[in-house]
Amino acid sequence: MQFQNIIRVIPDFPAEGISFKDITTLLKDGPAFRQAVDCLAAEFAGQHIDLVAGPEARGFVIGAPMAYALGAGFVPIRKPGKLPAAVLHHEYSLEYGVDALEIHQDAILPGQKVLIVDDLLATGGTTKAVISMVEQLGGEVVGLGFLIELLFLHGRTGLDNYKVKSLVQY
Ligand code: 5GP
Repeated sequence: MQFQNIIRVIPDFPAEGISFKDITTLLKDGPAFRQAVDCLAAEFAGQHIDLVAGPEARGFVIGAPMAYALGAGFVPIRKPGKLPAAVLHHEYSLEYGVDALEIHQDAILPGQKVLIVDDLLATGGTTKAVISMVEQLGGEVVGLGFLIELLFLHGRTGLDNYKVKSLVQY
């Protein structure tokens, strides 16, 4: 299946000059959604993954069915103030300013094998933040999976130690 034909590209969203990859057109196509999740999950099958961790919000939409397909648990990584129990708070720098994410402190046990999933790899800033959080909790990051990768932003730089897979590249 040509996923690229099903993903809608919106020019100048959310700001001028940005060509936004809108995955809602793929999500609403049942067979395409299933096949995308199955294809990405197949890349990591047999690796005895304990947990899939995904950042909100689109990382939930792809990460949760990936976890289901792999027979793994799912760990949500959220914007500050959303998780109810004790959290690990992690700040990371963006091109302009800082952002923060949180994970429950007891979400991952030391030594658990964790697959990180998000809809899209751009600069890699979000993914590197999530890797740092998982590793601070003692998790072993066994892979990084994305529906989409924006090659021109070189998000893989610095991720050489990890198995990175994406279904669609721009
Ligand atoms: P990065 O941190 O790698 O620069 O950006 C990746 C994050 O930004 C992901 O969580 C992703 O959801 C979001 N993102 C950035 N650009 C796009 C886009 O064009 N389409 C979608 N769906 N998400 C994007």
